[in-house]
Amino acid sequence: MSKKATIERECADAAFLQAWLRARLRDHMAEKKPEKRWIAETLFDDLGFRMTFQVDKVLYEQQTEHQHLLLFEQPFFGKMLMLDGATQITKKDEFIYQEMMSHVPLFAHGNARDVLIIGGGDCGIAEEVLKHKTVKRLTQVEIDPAVIEFAKEHFPEFTKPVFADKRFESIIDDGMKYVARTERRFDAIIVDSTDPQGPGRVLFSTKFYAACKRCLNKGGVMVTQNGVPIFQPAELTSSISKFRKLFADGGCYIAAIPTYIGGHMAMGWATDDKGLRQTSVRTIATRYRKAGSFSTKYWTPDVHVAAFALPRFIADTVAKAR
Ligand code: SAM
Repeated sequence: MSKKATIERECADAAFLQAWLRARLRDHMAEKKPEKRWIAETLFDDLGFRMTFQVDKVLYEQQTEHQHLLLFEQPFFGKMLMLDGATQITKKDEFIYQEMMSHVPLFAHGNARDVLIIGGGDCGIAEEVLKHKTVKRLTQVEIDPAVIEFAKEHFPEFTKPVFADKRFESIIDDGMKYVARTERRFDAIIVDSTDPQGPGRVLFSTKFYAACKRCLNKGGVMVTQNGVPIFQPAELTSSISKFRKLFADGGCYIAAIPTYIGGHMAMGWATDDKGLRQTSVRTIATRYRKAGSFSTKYWTPDVHVAAFALPRFIADTVAKAR
């Protein structure tokens, strides 16, 4: 083989080798794509169970004076807020909890003028409450200013209309201290708290519920974030026991919220007006029409009434509350 042919042959081999190496490198880089980050909710670690979320981008992370605040973009649920490793709110399913914590107590009451929210720093519930024309004044008492500040930046769809509404008043304080001190009286108290850990623990205490009762007008109602019964039965039984020592009617209603993993979420119910939870679909529908039939994505008059029909295992958990 001539010298020229040998060189051509070697060049061809080198070109082939180069192409082969390039292809391998491409595959390798494709394989080496940066690992997607996954964030776990650690609320049920003691049950040996974690729910993890793939993260597109961490938008905000801060250890505040009160809790660890983490906000991230999630491919399916959109923006998600976690406080101390517990999911608080996601863009995808926030409407379920916000609507059921707002419209059930307000349409059951029928003429709530003065409303108090304890917690609720993301302002999602405040936005729903202010849809009710009967409401003349809404006071929100949130312990952590950082939650409100970040909500203004990341959840403007809630904070903008809320902070623009003259009926709204935002107070930074511990909810326990506020209800223990205030001379104000309310027709409805909505406790949109974190779980009974860290700053939220006191909001599940008898002294807190007793102080809330002191702040309620005659016929007033209190609703509470009360966990997922399948994983947190003791929390529900404990709260309802305390309600029943203080109020004529103590119980709960339910809704299914995908990111509050565990099927049903329980919302505590406490009032001296036993008739409130018996309000008929017809009456609720009439009140809704009078309120202008504003748009909702979960709550309806039928869903409202059905939410008090508890599956047996939850009814049994509630029945344990003496
Ligand atoms: N929907 C959420 C859930 O079910 O877990 C709760 C959302 S909301 C963001 C909870 C708020 O309660 C937080 O902003 C937290 O700072 C506030 N919070 C916790 N303990 C509090 C207290 N003692 N007084 C007032 N606000 C409190």
